[in-house]
Amino acid sequence: MKKLFIITICCILMLGLTGCTNSSLTHQHTWQDATCIEPKTCSECGETEGEPLGHTVHLGICSRCGKAVHEEVMLNIVQYNSNIQTIHDNVSNYIKNVNYNNLQDCFNKYNAAYNELIKAKEEINKIIIESEDFEELNTLRELAQKVIDHIPSKIENSTSEKLIDFLNEYKTYLISLSDYYKEVTNVLSLFNK
Ligand SMILES: [Zn+2]
Ligand SMILES: [Zn+2]
Repeated sequence: MKKLFIITICCILMLGLTGCTNSSLTHQHTWQDATCIEPKTCSECGETEGEPLGHTVHLGICSRCGKAVHEEVMLNIVQYNSNIQTIHDNVSNYIKNVNYNNLQDCFNKYNAAYNELIKAKEEINKIIIESEDFEELNTLRELAQKVIDHIPSKIENSTSEKLIDFLNEYKTYLISLSDYYKEVTNVLSLFNK
């Protein structure tokens, strides 16, 4: 009976001791701040608290961690833009090489230029669609839309009036195009940093 008593006492003592040891082992968490993709985390036990911060994206790059979050979108915009530039090189070649003494030649080359502008429109539209979810690309999108809105109308016939109309509309188009190019250069230079 005495033996049992001692064992019981020992058990109680041990339990107490274990409890004590346990509480002294309960460590103080060493918290690592939350990051874009990880919540606040204890570096020792791995316990987490709260939610990850999420990326703060500007022009496809997270301003906090530098990760390219929507790089694909930006790379697509780079590609479409380079297509647009090639198309516009063709347009200006047609217009530069017009023989102004020959209405039919004017008509043919302006028409060819017009057809290229329609191709440019498709590429610009792709940029508008691609950038839809990005608030920081709002200005770019608006300017791209203006370029599309200013595409000259199709030339109906080779009268000098119609050809002059086309040239005038083309001049207005070039103004909106230059606004667009300024913005796209800004955007892409930020992205390439
Ligand atoms: Zn911990
Ligand atoms: Zn981030």
